[in-house]
Amino acid sequence: MKFKSITVHPEVVHMPITKHLPHFTTSANSPKLSDYKQGKRHLFVAPKKGRLFHICASLDTRYICCSTHVISHISNCPFECTYCFLQNYLTDTTLTVVADTKAIIQEIKEKTSLQPWRLFRIGTWELGDSLAVSPLNNLAIELVKEFTKLDNCILKLRTKGSAVEPLLDIEHKGKTVISWTVNPPEIIKREEIGTATLDKRLRAMEKAAKAGYPIGLHFDPMILFKGWEAAYLKLVKAIFTAIQPKDVIWISIGSLRFNPEMKKKIENNYPSSRITAQEMILGDDNKFRYPRPIREEMYRLLLSFLLDAGAGECFTYLCMERWNVWERVFGRCPKSIGHLDYLMAKAVHNRFPKSAPVKPQKEHYLKLTY
Ligand code: SF4
Repeated sequence: MKFKSITVHPEVVHMPITKHLPHFTTSANSPKLSDYKQGKRHLFVAPKKGRLFHICASLDTRYICCSTHVISHISNCPFECTYCFLQNYLTDTTLTVVADTKAIIQEIKEKTSLQPWRLFRIGTWELGDSLAVSPLNNLAIELVKEFTKLDNCILKLRTKGSAVEPLLDIEHKGKTVISWTVNPPEIIKREEIGTATLDKRLRAMEKAAKAGYPIGLHFDPMILFKGWEAAYLKLVKAIFTAIQPKDVIWISIGSLRFNPEMKKKIENNYPSSRITAQEMILGDDNKFRYPRPIREEMYRLLLSFLLDAGAGECFTYLCMERWNVWERVFGRCPKSIGHLDYLMAKAVHNRFPKSAPVKPQKEHYLKLTY
């Protein structure tokens, strides 16, 4: 994808990422675009201002959340998922990346060294896609290298793209997980505009697994449509033809959700989308979701497909769901958010010891407060 303009802040003009930019102008100000779609075509490379490392902003103590951490150094994304919350979130929509990886790593070191016993899973996808375009991939390469030195941290790159080539030959020591959000081709084509096809994602997944990267899978958002059952079965089969369950570090499952303001934006921005046509109910967190029995049916069916595909050993969890839904889907539920954090750390330590060399101690995790 070609950007219409690339602007680099003078303070970061000497940073390595600028060598990978085909052309750019220098200015301390981003183009400050407010149109959501237009902002995706203009790149601003910025210095680090303020804190970028924090716990996932969606963490909500009404749910059993996975308490992932994030670095918010990417803002906006060249892809156009119809359900993307960014269309109702960004004020300056210019695609912005923070170039100063060393300063980002320094902040991560300062925070994570305070809890050396804890496994920090740290994503770069909070406000964008980790690997959507080549300048972002060069920042990802810098982060992958730096994370090899952080014992109690795992870098989580999450994408709907396929541009993994530059990551394949670099030393990662199993400290980076490359994750894909996955959906059936029908949904990718209609609702994940501009992203890689399923086939391209699977080929990239295969290459990343061969290069020794642990793979993350995110069936989130699952979307209802006519024939969804057969489509998700086909999807699971296709994934586990491309890669093996032993390559997969974790699997998350969630369903479509958005707030009422988003509904209007989706209908205006993407009139051919069908995601707002299904019956949804508004929860006390001000988000529309499919009714609970339908969500549970979707999750249970997907889980049965995963078990049939031999993926029962992969740590599987629900995103933004309550205790009762966990119980009905898995027949069990973590006692708290801290307990889920511990269970994930334990599963990673047992199955991917290079990724999590520190043996997790349950008592530390159970004392965590949110
Ligand atoms: S890939 Fe993620 S950030 Fe990009 S448009 Fe889709 S949902 Fe939004």
